[in-house]
Amino acid sequence: MKEKRFSLGGFLADLLFPPRCLLCGKLSKEGFLCEKCAAGLHEVGKDPCRFCGRDADRCRCDYGKAFLFEQSVSAYYYEETGRLLLHKFKFRSDWACYDRILAPRFLERVRSAFEGVPFDYIVPVPMYEKEKKRFDQTLYLAQSLSRKMGVACRTDLLRKIRKTPPQHLQKGKDRGENVKDAFLACKKKDLQGVCILLVDDVATTFSTLNACTAALQAAGADRILCACLMTTAGKNQNRGYEK
Ligand SMILES: [Zn+2]
Ligand SMILES: [Zn+2]
Repeated sequence: MKEKRFSLGGFLADLLFPPRCLLCGKLSKEGFLCEKCAAGLHEVGKDPCRFCGRDADRCRCDYGKAFLFEQSVSAYYYEETGRLLLHKFKFRSDWACYDRILAPRFLERVRSAFEGVPFDYIVPVPMYEKEKKRFDQTLYLAQSLSRKMGVACRTDLLRKIRKTPPQHLQKGKDRGENVKDAFLACKKKDLQGVCILLVDDVATTFSTLNACTAALQAAGADRILCACLMTTAGKNQNRGYEK
């Protein structure tokens, strides 16, 4: 077994700037998250439902009957530490929360779930034009996957053409209506017969992914598969996420 070599520089750096948890700020020997915060980050297990991307005991999707896309994968559950990390990343543009903690597993999940799928483009779920002043976390996710997977990220193929009230304020049955026709596919010539990896930050009821899939397919796209950084855990846990 290889021994860890002592480094004076590393020793002094740790002494002067001891490693701290990126979420709560407490001293952390375990890495970017302290033991307590790490225990609250819940990863999706190894063999999730191929449609909703949740573990079997959290799946409520009835074999994806209401889904238009082919498959979806999520890396984490949107709860406890996952929820707090995503908020820090999204509202405070704290990229380290994503880059250092969440990104490696997200990439690994997407790669293993979609091994061999010949993606032509990666497309992020778009923001409404007028909301674009704030940090677009979904675009950031799509660009990071694009760099790692060597697949072009296209932001010119799908537009959000109207503002939609936050999905979590809608009743379950109204969520599909809420986002219906909110998305418009562009550049139809580029969409004919293509295979797309559609990226979102949090999957809630999948109404948004369905609406995007419908728009892309109507414009000629062939296969749509979805990658979400996180997924809500199921009933009664969807509150508090605002698009
Ligand atoms: Zn912590
Ligand atoms: Zn399912």
